[in-house]
Amino acid sequence: MSDFLNVPEDELILRRLLWCHHGCSSEFLYGDDGELQCSHPKHRGLNPFDALDFRRDSAKLLEWKLMNDEAKRIVPRPKS
Ligand SMILES: [Zn+2]
Repeated sequence: MSDFLNVPEDELILRRLLWCHHGCSSEFLYGDDGELQCSHPKHRGLNPFDALDFRRDSAKLLEWKLMNDEAKRIVPRPKS
C-alpha cells in the first residue's frame, strides 16, 4: 500500500486519471485535500465502509474493488 504522502509522482498521476475516468459520476467522487475516493456502493462488496480509495488501496485491491459482483465471488479480496 502506498503511503498517503509518499506516492511517486507518476503513480499519483495514473491513480488520479483512474479516479477521474473509472466510470462513476461525480456525485460519488471525493477529491478534496488530495483525496481520491469513490463512494459508489458497487465497489464496497459486503463492507459498507470499504470505499474505493485511489490513494491508499494497492493496485491489486483497486482491481478487486472495480470487479463486478460475480468476479468478486470468485476472486478472494486482497488483504491490502
Ligand atoms: Zn466509482
